Amino acid sequence: MNGAHHLSESSGWNGKSATWHSIDGADALGRLESSDEGLSTAEAGRRLGSIGPNALPETGRRPLVLVFFRQFASPLIYILLAAAVFAFVVGERRDAGVILAVVILNSVIGAFQEGRAERSMESLRRLAELQARVLRNGRETLVSARQLVPGDLLLLAAGDAVGADARLLDCAALQSSEAALTGESLPVEKTVRILPEGTPVSDRCNMVYSGTHIAAGRGRAVIVATGLDTEVGKIASLMESTVEPKTPLETRIHQFGRWLTVAAVLLFLTIMGFGLLRNLPFNQILMVSISQMVSMVPEGLPVAMTIALAVGMQRMAARKALVRRLAAVETLGCTTVICTDKTGTLTRNEMTVTTIWLPSGRTIEVSGAGYAPEGGLSEDGRQLTATDDAGLRALLETAVLCNDAQLVPPDQTDPRWRPLGDPTEAALLTLSLKALQDPQALRNDHPRRDEIPFDSGSKMMATRHGGGIRIKGAPETVLKLCNSVRTNAGDTPLDQAKLDRITQASGEMAGRALRLLAFAELADYPPDDKLDVQQFGDRAVFLGFVGQMDPPRDEVKPAIAACRKAGIRPIMVTGDHKETGIAVARGLGIIRGEEHALDGQEMELMREQDLRHDIDRISVFARVHPAQKLRIVEALQARGHVVAMTGDGVNDAPALARADVGVAMGITGTEVAKGAAEIVVADDNFATIVGAVEQGRLVFENLKKVILFLFTTSIDEVIILLAALMMDLPLPLLAVQILWINVVTETILTVNLVMEEPEGDELERPPVPRDEPLVTRSMLQRMVSMAASAVVATLGYYLWRQTSGDPLVQIRSETFTLLVVCQWFNVLNCRSSHRSAFHLSLFRNRWLVGGLLLGNLLQVLVIYSPALNHVFHTVPIPLVDFFLIGAVASIVLWMEEARKLLVRQR
Ligand code: ATP
Repeated sequence: MNGAHHLSESSGWNGKSATWHSIDGADALGRLESSDEGLSTAEAGRRLGSIGPNALPETGRRPLVLVFFRQFASPLIYILLAAAVFAFVVGERRDAGVILAVVILNSVIGAFQEGRAERSMESLRRLAELQARVLRNGRETLVSARQLVPGDLLLLAAGDAVGADARLLDCAALQSSEAALTGESLPVEKTVRILPEGTPVSDRCNMVYSGTHIAAGRGRAVIVATGLDTEVGKIASLMESTVEPKTPLETRIHQFGRWLTVAAVLLFLTIMGFGLLRNLPFNQILMVSISQMVSMVPEGLPVAMTIALAVGMQRMAARKALVRRLAAVETLGCTTVICTDKTGTLTRNEMTVTTIWLPSGRTIEVSGAGYAPEGGLSEDGRQLTATDDAGLRALLETAVLCNDAQLVPPDQTDPRWRPLGDPTEAALLTLSLKALQDPQALRNDHPRRDEIPFDSGSKMMATRHGGGIRIKGAPETVLKLCNSVRTNAGDTPLDQAKLDRITQASGEMAGRALRLLAFAELADYPPDDKLDVQQFGDRAVFLGFVGQMDPPRDEVKPAIAACRKAGIRPIMVTGDHKETGIAVARGLGIIRGEEHALDGQEMELMREQDLRHDIDRISVFARVHPAQKLRIVEALQARGHVVAMTGDGVNDAPALARADVGVAMGITGTEVAKGAAEIVVADDNFATIVGAVEQGRLVFENLKKVILFLFTTSIDEVIILLAALMMDLPLPLLAVQILWINVVTETILTVNLVMEEPEGDELERPPVPRDEPLVTRSMLQRMVSMAASAVVATLGYYLWRQTSGDPLVQIRSETFTLLVVCQWFNVLNCRSSHRSAFHLSLFRNRWLVGGLLLGNLLQVLVIYSPALNHVFHTVPIPLVDFFLIGAVASIVLWMEEARKLLVRQR
């Protein structure tokens, strides 16, 4: 193979060495000049500097110059350039200059804004980049996958994405999914033994490869290749480019733009036709028609779109939702269902054991809250300890031994007891301390020999120690393995009557929203066989249950209520017991009225069409296997829903990828889940998702404001021009003036509308339908009414001034200014569809204030500076007239205020 050849040249860390799979792990470590402590931070830095980041070349990046030149690549710009040449040829040098200046200014501003938006998006994307755990200076460190270098010691666990090619040094039950690299869909079992030199890449099971992920187990490996030297790197050129596809909204805006171009051409022909019929000078009417056509096309819209998405992404990041794929920003706005995990997302994932139930029928209460071992065990008011009962003792021992967590006592950095590892397991250590049993001593006395790690599919975990196998997991799973129960009097067979009692007890505990764990022990298992659940048979002894309390997060209940109000249905999808799920869901308002719960088993028995039929009434899916999450997403989508789905485990990845918005958990989520998701929620919190939906809706709202404003501006100009032509009046605006309005309003006002803050009622409206047209009927009505008042004001003023006998250049300057001032008022109108402009503080959008001030300043210059008077064919306007113009233009504002008042009253 090529790869083998490439790697077999010389030795050393900088890329080339012996075929790593055919040498011993320790040997590889030596050749890579690394050690069991990993690299030092300084050495890693040096290597990074010398061979560059661990990344494949990004074809999506564009330098600013390219972004600048891309602005020219539009038919409109060609027309304008042609117009400039024409103007120059016919001797209108001033106009030619203005047109050129407009083209360049447009491109500079466009490139600047777009470039800035793209850079900010890129830096935000970095936040959501995948990470890897390595040993550096002997300490476990989390680094961005880009910073991995050969020689780094990679620590691997289930759910990790492998960031580089590495030779395994040791592993326990390690399996990796290599579908992305080799097409093999089943996980591959890994070992550390030396393989023959000619082994093909797909069979090198002592190596792990970049682009694959760990499906199960744990391991340590030394990195041998990064970036383009990895196996994926070598085929990177064959893979699709990393340019992010256009989002659906971007595509629609582009299509919309094309329609408008057609409309603009028709408009051009109409104005030309009228002008020629009226025998206006050909040069003049041609230039006016071209300017009008140009102002009809919203070239600013795509840039506004990019900025709106970037701002949305930025605001989401500020509220702890990191966007990995841009399309998610807008899809979130359309979301109609959020399927959410329970533990950690709706609840705090702060477990406290409150109840123990023993098969002898005893119920033991546990006092205290949190992880601090303050509190104790009691039964009917009587204090208890671990030594109290043989059954209780066995249960408490199993709780500590079949457990990977640690409990960190208070120290200088934190005055609280903290869990390290799975909170469910850490709470068991607290329980052990409360029962006066020292977990560490117990672990030292019973070293672990083998294990089956917990997995949300199997819902159980088992460990093997000197004295037998300890099992813990979901009640049904564990009970299936048991044939007897432990009591103080010894083990007795598990008969139907006992099973009924146990089931009743578990139902009762789950009904109190407790998270249940069952414990069991298995003594006779062949000493030399590997642990395998299939071999457990039903020979285990049931020891009892533990019930844990996991209080809901405070902010979730209001977030659920907000969700409902926003027309979004929250659905809980939990691995937990149905009764526990229902109890938590009731408390939070997720289940209401007719809605009910379904568990994984019931769902398994349902036909696809029945599930689809019922799904609108199911609010809790319990005991769900991760694979079933995919089915839930598909059933909801078949009902026309836009689905957001949360997940954290490796097995959640397919459902996250399938959902319209996959949401991965930042804290508990595996790298695989994050890789499959569109959004990573940094604080694992449901309320954060709802906040992100609000921002997604705002992106839509703000774009609509931009579209409304752009159109209203163009429509006024068109109507005024056509009206004047039809009434046989001189042209009220000249070509350069139209261009000026177009450029100034589009670039300094329009774009700033996308920076509008939320109005606060984004979550009180229904979700945006995914196929809603860009211009809705209500927008159209507003467009007509706003344009009508601007036309009445401007045209009325122009007609009235015609009667004064003042020179045309004066009247034109005034009409031109009046139209500009109308746009200023219009931009205020567009900030909200129903709220008075007087109730929306201007300073909520400092960009808009800046734009308006700049617009004012520029207009004053155009009217009062002799140089610009010359260029724009204007003359100074007496100050009184300036005020009069302001008053007349404000009609635009008053009319819209009246409309808004009517809407509000309705
Ligand atoms: P959600 O999917 O809403 O976060 P969950 O976290 O309760 O729900 P899982 O973590 O898949 O879902 O747990 C499912 C069940 O597995 C739990 O109800 C519990 O009975 C059992 N369980 C959870 N953690 C462990 C563990 N570390 N060891 C053994 N069993 C566990």
